[in-house]
Amino acid sequence: MSTRGGVRSGGHIVVGNARGNNLKNVSLRIPKGQLTVFAGVSGSGKSSVVFDTIAVESQRQLNESFPSFIRNRLPRYERPDAEVVENLSTAIVVDQKPVGGNSRSTVGTMTDIHPVLRVLFSRHGKPTAGPSTKFSFNDPQGMCPECEGLGRTVRLDLDKLIDEDKSLAEGAIRFPTFAKGTFQWQLYAESGLFDPDKPIKRFSAADREKLLHGSGFKVDRAGRHGVYKNEYEGVVLRFTRRYLKKGLDSLNERDRAAVAEVVSEGPCPACRGGRLNRAALASKIAGYSIADLTAMEVDELIDVLAGLDVPAAKPITASALAALRRISGIGLGYLTLDRETPTLSGGESQRLKTVRHLGSSLTDLTFIFDEPSVGLHPRDVHRLNELLIALRDKGNTVLVVEHDRDVLRIADHVVEMGPGAGTEGGEVVFEGTVAQLRKATTPTGRAMRSVPGLKESFREPTGTLPVRKAKLHNLKEVSVDFPTGVLTTVTGVAGSGKSTLVAGVLPRQHPDVVVVNQSAVGISLRSVPATYLDIMDPVRALFAGATGQDPGLFSFNSTGGCPECKGRGVIQTDLAYLDPVTTTCEACGGSRYRPEALEHTLDGRTIADVLASTTDDALRFFTDDGIRERLELLSEVGLGYLTLGQPLSTLSGGERQRLKLAGRLRETGHVYVLDEPTTGLHMSDVDRLLALLDRMVDAGNTVIVIEHDLDVVRRSDWVVDLGPEAGRHGGEVVFQGTPAQLLQAGESHTARCLKADLE
Ligand code: ADP
Ligand code: ADP
Ligand code: ZN
Ligand code: ZN
Repeated sequence: MSTRGGVRSGGHIVVGNARGNNLKNVSLRIPKGQLTVFAGVSGSGKSSVVFDTIAVESQRQLNESFPSFIRNRLPRYERPDAEVVENLSTAIVVDQKPVGGNSRSTVGTMTDIHPVLRVLFSRHGKPTAGPSTKFSFNDPQGMCPECEGLGRTVRLDLDKLIDEDKSLAEGAIRFPTFAKGTFQWQLYAESGLFDPDKPIKRFSAADREKLLHGSGFKVDRAGRHGVYKNEYEGVVLRFTRRYLKKGLDSLNERDRAAVAEVVSEGPCPACRGGRLNRAALASKIAGYSIADLTAMEVDELIDVLAGLDVPAAKPITASALAALRRISGIGLGYLTLDRETPTLSGGESQRLKTVRHLGSSLTDLTFIFDEPSVGLHPRDVHRLNELLIALRDKGNTVLVVEHDRDVLRIADHVVEMGPGAGTEGGEVVFEGTVAQLRKATTPTGRAMRSVPGLKESFREPTGTLPVRKAKLHNLKEVSVDFPTGVLTTVTGVAGSGKSTLVAGVLPRQHPDVVVVNQSAVGISLRSVPATYLDIMDPVRALFAGATGQDPGLFSFNSTGGCPECKGRGVIQTDLAYLDPVTTTCEACGGSRYRPEALEHTLDGRTIADVLASTTDDALRFFTDDGIRERLELLSEVGLGYLTLGQPLSTLSGGERQRLKLAGRLRETGHVYVLDEPTTGLHMSDVDRLLALLDRMVDAGNTVIVIEHDLDVVRRSDWVVDLGPEAGRHGGEVVFQGTPAQLLQAGESHTARCLKADLE
């Protein structure tokens, strides 16, 4: 690879013969200072070009430019597999990864607006509480001593933990590690201290105190080999010590879920959620404390700050206002500064990160976006477009991976990857302007020309799933009946309350509702599609049968695994303060297997070849019904392009969601909630997704999707539209009915966009 720094090849980023992942010697010239959209069906190779080739090489070259003593402290980027990547500028990747952080990271801290407010209060608050550390909930000087600056406390809820009507023998303690037969249960039920058959409500006050809070003595406990002396510890003491002391964040997923069932989380009684100590909360400006301001929605805060009559504070408020107006401008005016960043959606995180860069005056950078329209209502896509254009007009190069027709329309230049996914993709099938794309015969060209119409007839509901008086977050006592046995789309502008209603309240009122979301929860990130689908056992058996070897030899988690990388195919190096760096294992070349395992083949393929083949390819290879059935699930959800050995940690949110869906595909009689299942899907893939959702409904399931994609709205049986606006101006059902009724009668944003789209 040649990297001639400083030589400008006519203002283009030049990529020559890129071969990463599925790319087939891709060569491209991307105009600098312009806005280029990368389109193409999912799995065609868009991310492989933009993220794995261009962004990685840019990072690598940037790191090379540092002296070695700094370089040694930076993550090491492997050279992308390409002959030429030239004329790059520094790349800034703005993706949908959660902003991360913990409960101490808020919208206010991540956007640096909270520090500005702290300065405002330390100089102009009355009475003054002192320097600004005093207004920081992350500083011992400022934090509320009761909740240590978290603003809320988690308390054990005895009404939830103890079933007063039951005896110990009947399982009165409702927590897995205290369940009947466990060591802990024996300590209470079989120690002779209490009558195991007496309902708890009939315990004497002394016994009750001993059961819950007793300590400081030993009891006998019968074990398999005799009687043991054990230190006694009351239920509350043990539970608090084991599960609450270290904070819920320190627990594993399963424990956390179990603990959540028996605790009540609420605002801290000392600071009432303000996170700060008394002195800091008592300091006010125009009657507001700093906590009052951070609890306001950004749009309201703008009005309050703009109306402040404190002339000396003008320079400080001006800087906060500029940042707040940028947040509002991108359609996030419904957020509050005290909102914890881990609770933000992927789309919200990405838009907030973008806002951060808009304030910067650096130019000649390359900004790279991953489907920035995610989570945005069609009404607000123009705001995103303005943002992308503003970045370009500041003299930057903007690269966007996107499927949304309305974003595609503003591209100066379009690159379409394809023609198919995985091994059937990896080529550039179109390059040119949007006008040229409209005439192209590629999947994106076709999808730009044809907008699908409404369904001819809508399914009749089989019943209803009522939600009553939902009040979570911004919902205003919402009562709504979701029809069962049909496909329902929940619409509304971002922040109107869609996820709160269907992913938050609905499952609480109907525990049998299954929420299939995009998070990594429930997916072991060490696994691969083959292990997730449980096909490794039958595959190993086939190899063992054909070769006469022990099946363990074909397991990378067992004797067959490469000893160097322990079967992971990669070596991970942890660096203090930085993200860990993964490099391909040199011993096995990434195959995960020791050489002995690769000496044996099944119909000409080694076990590593099998893991390297795509699901669709494996379907042509395997004849075993059990294996094929599982592979077909993956293919049906549109993930046939994934290789059987691709680490699940490399999947995007949308791919993770479809993978989880695959695991559920053959079930019937369930209610499924899907949050924006079209994420990462090309317009032509959306057709396949809809066919899949239709099949699930026809098989006797109820499917409720949160969606902005109007193609999905048109093809659903029922629409529940929330609004009218976001945050406290939303939280109501503004329409419910069939898409046809929405088109005729609806006056909401969704109705207007739907009409405009069909004109
Ligand atoms: P797109 O962005 O167009 O959806 P990608 O560039 O993500 O497509 O993927 C192109 C192909 O490369 C797919 O077959 C995908 O499974 C594969 N691929 C992507 N990332 C990895 C990875 N980290 N390891 C192995 N294969 C990958
Ligand atoms: P949508 O799904 O329509 O984009 P949400 O349900 O995410 O809307 O948000 C509705 C309102 O609830 C917004 O004002 C949002 O800021 C607020 N909200 C959502 N999640 C949380 C949360 N975890 N904590 C506090 N407020 C939240
Ligand atoms: Zn507190
Ligand atoms: Zn190895």
